Amino acid sequence: MQLTVLGCRSGMPAGGSPSSGYLVDTGRTRLLLDCGPGIATALSAVDGPLDGVVITHLHIDHCYDLLPLGKALLKPMLRFPGAPEFGGECAPVPLLVPAGAKELFARWSQLFPIASMPVLNRAFEVAYDVREYAPGELFEFGDCAVELHELVHSAPNCGIRVTDGERTLAYTGDTGMTDALVKLAAHADVFLCEATLRATDTTGHGHLSAAEAGRVAAEAAVGELVLTHFASTEPDWLHGLLTDAGSEFDGPIRLAEAGKTLTC
Ligand SMILES: [Zn+2]
Repeated sequence: MQLTVLGCRSGMPAGGSPSSGYLVDTGRTRLLLDCGPGIATALSAVDGPLDGVVITHLHIDHCYDLLPLGKALLKPMLRFPGAPEFGGECAPVPLLVPAGAKELFARWSQLFPIASMPVLNRAFEVAYDVREYAPGELFEFGDCAVELHELVHSAPNCGIRVTDGERTLAYTGDTGMTDALVKLAAHADVFLCEATLRATDTTGHGHLSAAEAGRVAAEAAVGELVLTHFASTEPDWLHGLLTDAGSEFDGPIRLAEAGKTLTC
């Protein structure tokens, strides 16, 4: 199982990195986890079809590029006579989203209408097979089993646990501290954990510090901790996240880096 970091910034893109988006590839199955601003572009640089998209929560930095990605998936259906990339069909990609997303998509897809190419106004109907999930639900995509674990955030957010039968990746999306994190990450080979902050979140919004990420990694006995969702691009600040997490977790720790692929 390979994990490609497409973007790893909290909020809007910064320092040349898109917001949240991660591609999981088992060799048989390719899943996109989250789709923030910049991810449609980053994904376009990685060849291959998608077998599914899973969105942790409906904050803009985790889902904004679903519309341009959907329109990109529709590209074969457009008619540009003579151009080789056009004139085909589009197989809908399963899209798992939190409850309420379908209503949002219905409004969203009405924006920027193109009368001469009406299929482009139907990205969420044609490019995707949209399924609203409930916390605790299980799904299968190819050789991958996907579990959704409810965490705590200012919008409903489910962490994602993906296993291909041999290797397991756990990803938080956005969350504050909760016992559910340990269940999400339990014995995962790679724990891709948000570490937005260097101090404990006192705002109630729901984010982790790097030390808290390390504490969960230790309790869950994960194989490797990958910190992500950074609030700053400042190098010393980023290095400090490693120090903070390392004070709680003895195993290997690394920082997510846009464009980099790691083996789970
Ligand atoms: Zn969020």
